[in-house]
Amino acid sequence: MDFPIFNSKALSDGKIYDLHDPAGRKLYFESKLGSKIDELKEFLEHNSFIGYMLARKMAGKGTYAKMLEEILGSEGIAHLSVGEIVRKYHGLFADTSNYQATVDVVQRYYRGFLSLEQAIGSILNRTTEKVSVPTELILALLKVEIASMPKKALLIDGLPRTSDQISYSLFFRDLVNYRDDPDLFILIEVSKELIDARLRHRLVCRDCHTSKNLLFNPSKFVAYDTVNAKYYLICDNNVCSGYGKNVLMPKEGDDQGIQAIDERIEQDTELMEMAANLQGIPSIMIRSSVPLSIAHQVLEDYEIQQKINYHITKDDIVKEKTDWIFKDDKGIECCTMYSATYVLNLFSQLHSLLVGDKT
Ligand SMILES: [Zn+2]
Repeated sequence: MDFPIFNSKALSDGKIYDLHDPAGRKLYFESKLGSKIDELKEFLEHNSFIGYMLARKMAGKGTYAKMLEEILGSEGIAHLSVGEIVRKYHGLFADTSNYQATVDVVQRYYRGFLSLEQAIGSILNRTTEKVSVPTELILALLKVEIASMPKKALLIDGLPRTSDQISYSLFFRDLVNYRDDPDLFILIEVSKELIDARLRHRLVCRDCHTSKNLLFNPSKFVAYDTVNAKYYLICDNNVCSGYGKNVLMPKEGDDQGIQAIDERIEQDTELMEMAANLQGIPSIMIRSSVPLSIAHQVLEDYEIQQKINYHITKDDIVKEKTDWIFKDDKGIECCTMYSATYVLNLFSQLHSLLVGDKT
């Protein structure tokens, strides 16, 4: 798979934008995308599309989908995460007072060899991350969700998930009555070293489940544990009951890094290759690894993902930032960028596929 390098620097107006704040990002996208934003919004007033997001785990699909929604508005586009939908229905099916009402709704859309009760059993008995929910039930749940909202563009995250599900994506738009709307794959490349580092330094709040990263995306509150000689983060989500108190903790298994999800990574890689070779559905390709030798020619300094080195002084913790340099899967030294720049790339490609470049 050949992921093209996106030149964001060519779109520069010379200003620096705050990519970590929604207001700053709005100005950033307006500056770099210009009239393309209104053109795509106008397209979505009369049309829609279905985008299947495919990437290795930890690529940041959910973050990019939410940011795209930030630009286009939630009335025009919806992010459907199969994982979130399965968790939601797990809760609904587990609640005995709601069980029958939920079954009645799903029944209308379900068709498959297993009885609906057996299929629901696979949700109720599912363990950890290993999803063994029958595809037929996933399709029914997606159809319930799609039927319950006004027609909008859909970003689907989690279908296809296995190679035997890939053929469903060829016909999914027919299944949900989006027959005349364009569909496309959104493939996001992310190297193994990047995934490993994102996992090893990930920290999560036990109450609000906000996920941060000690080295790449810390919360506002950093503290130092003198006993263990370790820096740690405290929740800075101002709607969380643990704001300013909860110490963010690693998730179980994160200390093993990418090793713990090796099998899943191989499966995701294979799936992306299959999608890229499918005829009849175009692909948008987002590259995360930019060779260090050209990084500063195609990215502005403030767009390059920084890595934080902490130092403790007599009365403060000092954060020193440098470009995060890692090796891609071919062993080439690379940089990557903040989420907003991934989304800028995604938006530009979506625009040229759906609206076309006006000259
Ligand atoms: Zn919290």
